[in-house]
Amino acid sequence: MMSQDNPLLADWTASFGVPPLAAIRPEHFPPAFEQALAEHRTDIDAIAASRAEPNFDNTVAALERSGRLLTRVSNVFYVLAGAHTSEPIQAIERDMAPRLARHWNEIHLDETLFARLDALHRRAAALGLSAEQARVLERYHALFHRAGAGLDGAAKERLKEIGDRLASLGTAFSQNVLADEQSYVLPLADDDLAGLPDFARAAARGDAEERGFAGHAVTLSRSSVEPFLQFSARRELRERAFRAWVARGDTGGPTDNNSNIAELTALRDEKARLLGYPSFAAYKLDDTMAKTPAAVTGLLDAVWGPARRRVAEERDALQEIVTAEGGNFRLAPWDWRYYAEKLRKARFDLDESEIKPYLPLEAIIEAAFYTANRLFGLTFAPRTDVPVYHPDVRVWEVTGPGGEHVGVFFGDYFARPSKRSGAWMTSLRDQERLDGEVRPLVLNVMNFNKGAAGEPTLLSFDDARTLFHEFGHGLHGLMSDVTYPMISGTGVLQDFVELPSQLFEHWLDRPEILQKFARHYRTGAPMPQALMDRLIASRTFNQGFLTTEYLGSTYVDLDFHLGGKKDAHKVEAETRERMQMPEEVVLRHRPPHFQHIFSGDSYAAGYYSYLWSEVLDADAFNAFEETGDVFDPAVAKRLRDNIYAAGGARDPSEAYKAFRSRIPSVEPLLKKRGLVDEAA
Ligand SMILES: [Zn+2]
Repeated sequence: MMSQDNPLLADWTASFGVPPLAAIRPEHFPPAFEQALAEHRTDIDAIAASRAEPNFDNTVAALERSGRLLTRVSNVFYVLAGAHTSEPIQAIERDMAPRLARHWNEIHLDETLFARLDALHRRAAALGLSAEQARVLERYHALFHRAGAGLDGAAKERLKEIGDRLASLGTAFSQNVLADEQSYVLPLADDDLAGLPDFARAAARGDAEERGFAGHAVTLSRSSVEPFLQFSARRELRERAFRAWVARGDTGGPTDNNSNIAELTALRDEKARLLGYPSFAAYKLDDTMAKTPAAVTGLLDAVWGPARRRVAEERDALQEIVTAEGGNFRLAPWDWRYYAEKLRKARFDLDESEIKPYLPLEAIIEAAFYTANRLFGLTFAPRTDVPVYHPDVRVWEVTGPGGEHVGVFFGDYFARPSKRSGAWMTSLRDQERLDGEVRPLVLNVMNFNKGAAGEPTLLSFDDARTLFHEFGHGLHGLMSDVTYPMISGTGVLQDFVELPSQLFEHWLDRPEILQKFARHYRTGAPMPQALMDRLIASRTFNQGFLTTEYLGSTYVDLDFHLGGKKDAHKVEAETRERMQMPEEVVLRHRPPHFQHIFSGDSYAAGYYSYLWSEVLDADAFNAFEETGDVFDPAVAKRLRDNIYAAGGARDPSEAYKAFRSRIPSVEPLLKKRGLVDEAA
């Protein structure tokens, strides 16, 4: 195929240099990947073969300049593989994952390249580098060192094999989970709808329609099954849906992930030992803000005690309702959300269907834009002239306080079968200015259930929080203000990356935002003050459950990565036993579908980082509260300079201290989650 026939290889001339997404077809990827890999290889060989004395420009900056086409093609491909996949895309993914892993492994294990980096690293202090350049050199050195560049030939060969195999296993893991989600549907007859409020019925109608039949249905996407578990009065149907949901990847059939987990954990352990670490967790955490498994366990244990006490109180309160209603059974995992909803209603007189009419998707998008405008002076203007990969994708141009172009923001909000579950931020292009200013193209991808034809999409408060969360990641990408691609935007250490997203969620809870944007979709009336007060007060409701289901997954993640081949069922059972996990609480992600830690390495031994970041975000938001103004301009400027715009240009502990003038403690987090009783 000639390059002019392949839009991936042509110049991208659409507005803002956005790739021609509507014209790209799956068959364009294999030849584009071929050419991109070859070009990158040529770039790398030229750097390694250089006879010139290594300096920053001919080694580090040259690495930063290498493989531009590969970055372009990979970015487009992985956006589609997540948000709009298909059989052909999945086949290419299976084929490319091991090849890309091998390609990168070969580069990171290149001795000549590492010798140049190592020589620079040893005399870094004498090179006259800027702070950002010094950091980029340090990051490159760590990247190669941690990949095994200093090892002997046999060890390197084995590392390569492990890398290939891990990539294939990760892809198989995800595809198994997706297959289980796509193959399951629970059709609901009319009398199966008992208890479901209007919005849940509408969503169930949409789910049925999507699967090609009339009536109502529940699927295994979180946004379909969770409301069903929360509201359905049909206990036996709740049990059926719940059992299918928690059995994803654990069905004993061709999509079962248990043997993948045993192999993944054994290979990760072997890799860590080859690199001189006692376990994969030790290896992984060495390159984080937390640094060691002990530091992580210390944090988890500090939260576990209060959470465990609170979840026991919550369970007793729910069992009381069961008994008071004459239910002659012990609370089961598929009952928790249903009775918690009843208790929430009794305590706060709140139900989701009362709140949702005040949270139309459009208003929450506007609220996120408004918050970014008040804090950072950003403006979002809709654009219709930018290519997209699906008609539901929306586009805004982002400009700064002086009207300058900041980047492009894509919002892809609705669930569909071609999209994997969950919510995420990603990018088609990252900010950098190595050879002139490059501004970012940032995406937020969600799985909200689309409103019925002619009706707006209404969000739950959790959905709205998810939107703010991903938008916070989006700002981290959009506001990036660095020179080097490696440390651009969200290119920060793992346990720091959730700070900008989780911090942004705090503004959604504020009356300044809710009064302005939480308006009834029909009448335009603001959310009544009493409802808003109850909504805020209810934020600590059920936190024992939410904290223990999360912490359970976090402990399991660490246990999988503290050495040896692991049997998934055994690890789960032993961890539950050791932590005295209440039987009524199932892990937020059971191992066979725990994609964060098994679909790739990125969150392996890293699931704790959400909580780690929450310690930071609770403490960081206090910086605004202390001033009495949640939009305080001076604090917002420090936040922009040290966190949102700074990428990975500094060590995260230093960056945080520069923003806050001190290190954070766990207390604000415990208070935020309502796990400690505040002093009277
Ligand atoms: Zn996040």
